[in-house]
Amino acid sequence: MVPLPRFQLPLPLNGPPPGYGWEECGMSASASRSFKTGVHRRDEFFGQAAYCAICGLFMLEEDLGVIQLCYILKDLSPRAWNRLKDLNWISPQANDGPRHDPRNGLALCLNHRDLFENYDCIIRYFPENRKFVLINYSDIPDLQEFHGKAIALDINDRDAPYPSLFILHEMRVRGFQPEQPLDPAIPDNITWQDWILSGGLVNQDTFSHDLPRRQNMLPLQSTPPRQSTHSGRMVFRGFVCVFLFLFAFFVWFWKYIA
Ligand SMILES: [Zn+2]
Repeated sequence: MVPLPRFQLPLPLNGPPPGYGWEECGMSASASRSFKTGVHRRDEFFGQAAYCAICGLFMLEEDLGVIQLCYILKDLSPRAWNRLKDLNWISPQANDGPRHDPRNGLALCLNHRDLFENYDCIIRYFPENRKFVLINYSDIPDLQEFHGKAIALDINDRDAPYPSLFILHEMRVRGFQPEQPLDPAIPDNITWQDWILSGGLVNQDTFSHDLPRRQNMLPLQSTPPRQSTHSGRMVFRGFVCVFLFLFAFFVWFWKYIA
């Protein structure tokens, strides 16, 4: 194990640290898609819906809401987004606004979205092997099996996430967890998540989106997904609609028929 290298502070103003610039990563100047379309296309594998980049849970039709598209920096203002353009932390031709560019997004299951957006974990890009690696910064037991391993984000994709945005997310994580060790230990050799290897998502570090899904591939689901309230709201709305319809019918019946 080796300590996770730290970024030197203050962060540079003329672009991200070496190795994290969008040009150095071979990213195109402009995103080719809208946010939703771009993230779905990039994070889909085997013709399924998008996978959770961390645990490999994928969305079945009956599980609407289990996989969600979320932002790397969820509350960034358009003004801050434009400042990142000016500083060349992201492409000057990035889509307008942080909520419209797929390179500020990724697909995660409900559990891991909560942990990522609540600043419990870090996703660190490693320029030397071009992988995005999960760091269990808050030392959460359920995340430990994913710690120090590369997740299903493809830096070679035309809509690859900006590595620089994960640096800013990491700064927030460190700010939210000042009691945690600054240099958590990570493996010497970065490997892919177990489900990525067992499922054949990568072949010599190249992602395969179009291969038929293997029968023996089951997404890891170490923690059961939180029950979505979406379906509950839909059922409630259905009951309200039925009640209003019956009420209107009885009023009409009483007035004109009875
Ligand atoms: Zn997950």
